[in-house]
Amino acid sequence: RDSTQRPVIRQLDEAAINRIAAGEVVERPASAVKELVENSIDAGATRIEVTIADGGKTLIRVVDDGCGIAATDLPLALSRHATSKIDGTDLLNIHSFGFRGEALPSLGAVGRLTITSRAAGDTAETIQVTGGTMGPVKPAALARGTQVDLADLFYATPARLKFLRTDRAETQAVVDVVRRLAMAEPFVTMILRDTTGGDERTLFRADAETGHMFDALGGRLRTVLGRDFADNALALDAERDGFHLTGFAALPTFSKGAAVAQYLNVNGRPVRDRMLLGALRAAYMDVMSRDRHPVACLFVDCDPTLVDVNVHPAKSEVRFRDPACVRGLIVSGIRHALAGAGHRSATTVGH
Ligand code: ADP
Ligand code: MG
Repeated sequence: RDSTQRPVIRQLDEAAINRIAAGEVVERPASAVKELVENSIDAGATRIEVTIADGGKTLIRVVDDGCGIAATDLPLALSRHATSKIDGTDLLNIHSFGFRGEALPSLGAVGRLTITSRAAGDTAETIQVTGGTMGPVKPAALARGTQVDLADLFYATPARLKFLRTDRAETQAVVDVVRRLAMAEPFVTMILRDTTGGDERTLFRADAETGHMFDALGGRLRTVLGRDFADNALALDAERDGFHLTGFAALPTFSKGAAVAQYLNVNGRPVRDRMLLGALRAAYMDVMSRDRHPVACLFVDCDPTLVDVNVHPAKSEVRFRDPACVRGLIVSGIRHALAGAGHRSATTVGH
């Protein structure tokens, strides 16, 4: 640095801004899959098919049967801070997964992005973005919904590419994201396939559940976490000061050696929130040894004004207006269920 040189302040161009933002929104292939599948869910899709190759590094394809994007809106969908989901007046009242209008422009800045879409009553059109440069809208063939192809993720940002893990590890992270979204959306069919090297393998499949939410969740739980868990899970239902806890918690005997099967959802959104994870751990503290991890799928629902989901660009962390209350609800809700199942806490039973 040289204090005698007068610095020049310039406005960055849109491509550079998108590349910088992409660093926060798209950390790895799994985060791209998360953004795209969330878009499909927001579009009302009932069937979402994801295909990846080489851990998502060379190809991520998401096909849905949702509402589609009108041909005239395609360039806008790829522009920064352009969204159909909020009008910006009420950031405390958000019901969709997306609202920041950042995913598509970010993905277009760090990969080769092609979007093909057909809205009801419209023709199918396609648009490509490579390295942040948008091509023209062209006619295409698609029966309905939207198909997004993201090829060569991070080809434009080699530093990020170097930090990716093995194809196997990146694939595993994609599977995890799809499972978490599948758990949150039992009425949507979700399929994940791998086409590395040309052969197609199904990595995950969950067919749409029917019936009421509770039954649908139970069915989805069976698919995602296995029959064994579902048969040994306790249903949760507790309420405190406007926060509602539902879901399932496994008996302590169904613990795992790692915290891999903890599905947390806030207002229908899968999250990885430290406070919630801590509460889950605390609920089992007296009935599980320190090196074990509980298996649970929790849904915390509240008025959207009681929680801020706009804490992190990937929206995986949330901030509650009253975290102590939510923590107490989870701890007591689970302990109550465990006690009802005959697993009294160690403080009363002794080891
Ligand atoms: P956000 O989801 O925050 O609105 P995105 O960049 O992810 O921002 O998407 C921009 C817009 O493109 C969305 O608001 C939506 O109108 C449209 N869009 C994206 N993906 C889909 C899809 N699969 N189906 C229908 N519309 C979509
Ligand atoms: Mg989005």
